[in-house]
Amino acid sequence: MKAKLIIPAIFISSLLLTFSCKNEKKAAAVPEVKRQEWAIVMHGGAGDMAQERMTPELDSAYRRGLKEAINTGKKILSEGGSALDAVEASIRKLEDNPLFNAGKGAVFTHDGKNELDAAIMDGSNLAAGAVAGVMDIKNPITAARTVMTKSEHVMLTGIGASLFAKEQGLEIVPPSYFYTETRFGELQEILKKEKMGTVGCCALDKNGNLAAGTSTGGMPNKKYNRVGDAPIIGAGTYANNATCAVSATGHGEYFIRWTVAHDISALMEYKGLSLKDASELVVNDKLVKAGAKGGVICLDNLGNISMPFNTKGMFRTFATADGKEGTYIFKGEKE
Ligand code: ASP
Repeated sequence: MKAKLIIPAIFISSLLLTFSCKNEKKAAAVPEVKRQEWAIVMHGGAGDMAQERMTPELDSAYRRGLKEAINTGKKILSEGGSALDAVEASIRKLEDNPLFNAGKGAVFTHDGKNELDAAIMDGSNLAAGAVAGVMDIKNPITAARTVMTKSEHVMLTGIGASLFAKEQGLEIVPPSYFYTETRFGELQEILKKEKMGTVGCCALDKNGNLAAGTSTGGMPNKKYNRVGDAPIIGAGTYANNATCAVSATGHGEYFIRWTVAHDISALMEYKGLSLKDASELVVNDKLVKAGAKGGVICLDNLGNISMPFNTKGMFRTFATADGKEGTYIFKGEKE
């Protein structure tokens, strides 16, 4: 009889204890941080570009290109569209802009070809898609998204990726579409020296979903079907609603081995670092010590943005629901 009473008593008192502990926790909790309704950040590559070599015309053309791209994503997000749609559409703008090393405007391989890499990731379910070494898909970021949604795979390369894109009805162009030497010979020279112009985007939508995407022609003068970090999930591209979205730009051979994008997310997840501290640690400490040049743009699930780089400049632009926005190229520009 007694035993029968003791068990429910233990149960009730432990319930009460849990309840009071929960309440205590609540009382001690820090005030809730307000989350941005939506946010978006993009890069157009990082490098040691010499400010004196940038003509005022080129400077404003780059800034105009970045603003056009971010405005595309901003419109989608403010109207309630998804982070994935914003990432894809904004990156397509820069892929179509010959100033950037992605899509039209991609740098040349050692053999004078253009081989393009791209990836996209959905932070809500960790779905991802990527293409590498493609030569005739007009918008590799769309191909990456199609791999994510319409195939059972994460990454397709070369001829197989092209075949898949054709089957899916994506826009195919002759490889000469990417060949912009006559019109942009001068620019190619700059890109070759500065090794920059990759594009990337991270977005947070009104539903709290994060997405990241990156698209590039890779490193100029690359050989033997070299693939960089951009299409490798966790290296150049990563998104996870639990932590952040990241898109990287820089010397891919380092970004792959230092698993840069995932490292930032892991530092947040396992060490509780803020987005800013995690991204600064990776870019301005770990990568610097490794001798790797580059930067990242990233966005956490509250809409905080961080854009660290360890080069002289990084094309970058952002916009948030509270009306803040900015477009920058060089280090030291007031953000
Ligand atoms: N990360 C790219 C690659 O290694 C290049 C770049 O971002 O400039 O392919």
